Amino acid sequence: MIDCLIVGGGIAGASVAYFLKHSGQKVAVVDDTGFVSQASLAAGAFISPVMGKPSKFKTFADEAFRFSVSFYSQNFPKLFNRCGSLIYPKNEKSKEEFFALGDYIPSEYDFMDINPFGAFLVKDSGIINPAALIDAMLEGVDRIDLNIGAIKKEGDVWRAGEIVAKNVVLAQGAIAPIINEPYLTSQITKLWGQKCKIKTNIALQYNISSKVHIAQIDGGLAIGATHIRSETPIAINRDDSMGLIKEAKEVVEIGDFEIIEEVGGMRSASIDHFPIAGAVYDSKATLSKFPSLIHGARLSSEAPAKYENLYVHTGHGSRAFILAPYTAKLLADAILDKSQIQSQIDPARLLFRYFKKNTPNQALDRTKEP
Ligand SMILES: Cc1cc2nc3c(=O)[nH]c(=O)nc-3n(C[C@H](O)[C@H](O)[C@H](O)COP(=O)(O)OP(=O)(O)OC[C@H]3O[C@@H](n4cnc5c(N)ncnc54)[C@H](O)[C@@H]3O)c2cc1C
Repeated sequence: MIDCLIVGGGIAGASVAYFLKHSGQKVAVVDDTGFVSQASLAAGAFISPVMGKPSKFKTFADEAFRFSVSFYSQNFPKLFNRCGSLIYPKNEKSKEEFFALGDYIPSEYDFMDINPFGAFLVKDSGIINPAALIDAMLEGVDRIDLNIGAIKKEGDVWRAGEIVAKNVVLAQGAIAPIINEPYLTSQITKLWGQKCKIKTNIALQYNISSKVHIAQIDGGLAIGATHIRSETPIAINRDDSMGLIKEAKEVVEIGDFEIIEEVGGMRSASIDHFPIAGAVYDSKATLSKFPSLIHGARLSSEAPAKYENLYVHTGHGSRAFILAPYTAKLLADAILDKSQIQSQIDPARLLFRYFKKNTPNQALDRTKEP
């Protein structure tokens, strides 16, 4: 028997595996792509802060940015190119307005007086090698190339075929969780992304973040990514790559180029932009215990009913390489201490929202046994 089975070997699953393994837990990760997950391996993976005025999400993302920069620098310095990023405005109305955002950047920076609105050189920003990072995070963890169709509770443990585990973490990215809980599936938005690499003679001193991210890579530039809401993957296409290159040309002289790679993947984003990390709640059991939840009531002291020792880690959107190490650490701590995770990322918020938005019949009809 193992301590924890993690379903999904992208950045979300690998990050939780890393922290549990470092706490002495016996961990196995299953992934049905043979650990070449479409989304995580297609990623930039650019590490740059959320720009903007203070908000609850920005405060959370700033904390995650600081955590991930220091986590990568300490543990994977060879994989993290902390080269700095020039951040251009996306839609500010004036140079003064953009300049004022400097007060809220969670890193040392310089303001560069470049046309038209200037740009911040954010020193802690950079880029990480996603494939090598996930491989390194999973060192010492059992990796199993397998599709898990279902899990079953047997006494105190979970069983998935031959695998028996005390805890299970669902880190399935944009794929519907193997536990049928519509409050999760219906509130995870799928965002398709395409990225391209071009061969060019241009040499960049820093990464660039404008409408698109641009980074120097071996033999050229990586440019990404598109954000298209879609239930199904979109075929890789030249038009989208040309659109990315056009946006890159607004801030960099690219000159002659040749497209040498085009990749894509499906991101999972939560409806309120915060990642989803914590216990998987049982909507049917919760509703029969607290029927008033359907009218929008909130539980003041009691917690919703949950599946014991079952957790979820997903919904990191376009910023998984910034957010996932941080939320994985919070989740690993909650699993080990049996403690409650912070409410902003707790799946309970999605459960309450789901009950509020559905009539009793809808919620009960759609709430099936796993
Ligand atoms: C083009 C592109 C560019 C991006 N750029 C950036 C960037 O610059 N910076 C950044 O931070 N983020 C970026 N992202 C976002 C980031 O890549 C994703 O949010 C992140 O990879 C999602 O990770 P994940 O582990 O949740 O999901 P995934 O990477 O999708 O991993 C989930 C894995 O679980 C497997 N799985 C699911 N169900 C089962 C099952 N039942 N049994 C076995 N295996 C299962 C899946 O096959 C998959 O391999 C980008 C994404 C794309 C597509």
